[in-house]
Amino acid sequence: MNIVCSSCFATNRVPDDKDHTLGKCGKCQQPIYSAKPVDLTDSTFDAFIENNQLPVIVDFWASWCGPCQQMAPAFGAVAAQSPQLLFAKVNTEQAPQISADAMIRRIPTLIFFHSGKEIDRISGGLSEGHIKQWIMQCIQKLSA
Ligand SMILES: [Zn+2]
Repeated sequence: MNIVCSSCFATNRVPDDKDHTLGKCGKCQQPIYSAKPVDLTDSTFDAFIENNQLPVIVDFWASWCGPCQQMAPAFGAVAAQSPQLLFAKVNTEQAPQISADAMIRRIPTLIFFHSGKEIDRISGGLSEGHIKQWIMQCIQKLSA
């Protein structure tokens, strides 16, 4: 399975019998996996979304947005509990190109990506339980 390093964004091939959460990056020697959402920018977004073979859930946010700040701990908590999914954040002020490409009209917006494709999105501040429920719906869509 291909997993993108959360530090240097190199693609690492993780053997099927190995746990990706324990692997070290062949390029930078840092842990490949982060239990915290990974901050993505215009220069790292494509690699992380397209080269990861696990689904990636991205939180598009901004520093001035109250609901974004309120949701951040819940998003982080879901990330820490979900090692088979990857979580990332895009600061829409610092990554204007990606935010425009993704047609982000409201923040916060969560987008569930798999193999570089958008599976679903949801906007507005969500509780931890609501985030988990939405993710379950996305996973069901993948296997449908
Ligand atoms: Zn690395």
